[in-house]
Amino acid sequence: MTNIERHTYDVVVIGAGGAGLRAAIEARLAGKKTAIISKSLFGKAHTVMAEGGAAAAMGNVNANDNWQVHFRDTMRGGKFLNNFRMAELHAKEAPERIWELETYGALFDRTKDGKISQRNFGGHEYPRLAHVGDRTGLELIRTLQQKIVSLQQEDFTAHGDYEARIRVFQECTITELFIENGAVAGAFGYYRESGDFVLFETSAIVLATGGVGKSYKVTSNSWEYTGDGHALALRSGATLINMEFLQFHPTGMVWPPSVKGILVTESVRGDGGVLRNTDGKRFMFDYVPDVFRKQYAETEEEADRWYSDPDNNRRPPELLPRDEVARAINSEVKAGRGSQAGGVLLDIASRLPAEQITKRLPSMYHQFKELADVDITKQPMEVGPTCHYVMGGVEVDADTAAAAVPGLFAAGEVSGGMHGSNRLGGNSLSDLLVFGKRAGEHAARYATETGRRKPTPAAVDAAVETALAPLHRADGGENPYALHAELQDIMGTLVGIIRREGELRDSLVRLAELKERVKKVGATGGRRYNPGWHLALDLRNMLIVSECTAKAALERTESRGGHTREDHPKMDPAWRKVNLVCSLDGEDVRLEHKPLPVMRRELQDLFDRSELAKYMTDEEL
Ligand code: FAD
Repeated sequence: MTNIERHTYDVVVIGAGGAGLRAAIEARLAGKKTAIISKSLFGKAHTVMAEGGAAAAMGNVNANDNWQVHFRDTMRGGKFLNNFRMAELHAKEAPERIWELETYGALFDRTKDGKISQRNFGGHEYPRLAHVGDRTGLELIRTLQQKIVSLQQEDFTAHGDYEARIRVFQECTITELFIENGAVAGAFGYYRESGDFVLFETSAIVLATGGVGKSYKVTSNSWEYTGDGHALALRSGATLINMEFLQFHPTGMVWPPSVKGILVTESVRGDGGVLRNTDGKRFMFDYVPDVFRKQYAETEEEADRWYSDPDNNRRPPELLPRDEVARAINSEVKAGRGSQAGGVLLDIASRLPAEQITKRLPSMYHQFKELADVDITKQPMEVGPTCHYVMGGVEVDADTAAAAVPGLFAAGEVSGGMHGSNRLGGNSLSDLLVFGKRAGEHAARYATETGRRKPTPAAVDAAVETALAPLHRADGGENPYALHAELQDIMGTLVGIIRREGELRDSLVRLAELKERVKKVGATGGRRYNPGWHLALDLRNMLIVSECTAKAALERTESRGGHTREDHPKMDPAWRKVNLVCSLDGEDVRLEHKPLPVMRRELQDLFDRSELAKYMTDEEL
């Protein structure tokens, strides 16, 4: 019989990025015994890598900012496909969540008069990103971890045990959720180092596992981001929405090849950096779409004046939402006006004095110096699009973060709806604070109402068997690394930044073949630190999530946000009313059309009718 370490918790939070930590804090504050589980080392999550900042309409730098303007920007950025209620809650609650972080000990950069400083970012009308240089995520995680330690100290005083009510399980990957009688009953996983199995009995789980970027080769995402939470939700009977929408961040490093995809923060453009092609042309002026034309400058002079006088000038087109900038770079490179390595030039050197650059963008300075031997105070950076963020995710109730399965909640990047078809930079850090808190609160409430549950022995045996299968393939099975490379090739070449019907159909055929081969994936060696085995288990998640993306991308015959169809290049107002919902039918992904919730009248009134007319059908208006 296989040994399994067993635990019982009121609330289990899977993921220790910002969403997971904020949820865990809330659950513990509600008095619940809470576990935090992290595939990576505690403190190492995408949240820690976030550079630019967290968007919150505090109005510290421009007093005209308020939640209504933030809401409008978010809806525009998402091309009105956002769940309006999530966008509303997010815009209203983000400032409070940022302030709260300071009560936990965060220290954001300051304005001259001592307020939290806010910086410009693409798609945000006013300077809105609260930041700590270009290391904001680090401060966010540090602070949330510090809050957890302080809660553990309180628990030690009360119970003589630091881990009495909140405990972290790090380097522990969850591979299975247990559902009994249609509701959550627990989670199962393994410790990466020892390969030992661990079981959590619980009735309330918060998924906070982040993104899916590792299905692509050129990505800003790190090794953990294999869509585990998305796949766990699907397999437990929950639904995913908006999976066709992937954000290709416009500026990833393109040279040298070993670092291709690593993020170059949007703060470079927020702080004045401009994009040029190899002819030296500042090309973004040629790519302002009609829906944004009124809000963006038409000349370099106006764009440059905006940095010092934003009230009387329009924004530079380099600060269009990310999907627009990524497509523009793609077009320039395709037209032969890109660099040899397939990028364009991002110039901050000629725009700011060297000491300002090193002060405002210290991480970027070191990143380029160390990885590319480029001094960004003297030379331009070479950049190109990189797979960065998934807008799609677990379909949740906006107010409670509850998924379709009782007891399952989701927050942060793993959830869907908030960002519609395209996320604005800075809106993720605020999203995970707002909805992390809500998820923790409602998971705690749910746990109180239902009491604890546990999985049946048969379900646990099945989880063990699935986890061990790759190690038991006598013939060695398919090589996980080769399968992973093939998956990345399919997704990068056939389901990438620009999509076409024929290629999407091909992708589905190839993904179906790959799915069969993934069933035979094998790993040599034993359970003790065995990355081949870990990848073998991650592959089935990546595959199912990729299938959702490819299927939804084929179905949506329009271009919107992070989904560009060359054969359907325009937005179609009829598609704006539709969410594509993925669920599992046996092993197959089922896709359904679901109407988007209709925005309340008083929120519609925040927009000009002429603007809404660009997105909505006549009948809606
Ligand atoms: P993450 O922070 O990604 O954490 C996920 C957690 O889940 C990790 O602890 C991981 O180990 C764990 N996990 C995953 N699978 C499992 C499993 N099977 N079992 C157990 N644990 C699991 N956004 C902004 O708003 N502003 C920015 O400036 C910004 N900059 C960015 C820079 C970079 C380089 C990157 C990659 C992203 C950036 N983003 C930014 C996006 C933002 O950082 C992420 O979207 C956000 O941090 C996601 O937070 P999260 O809490 O949802 O998940």
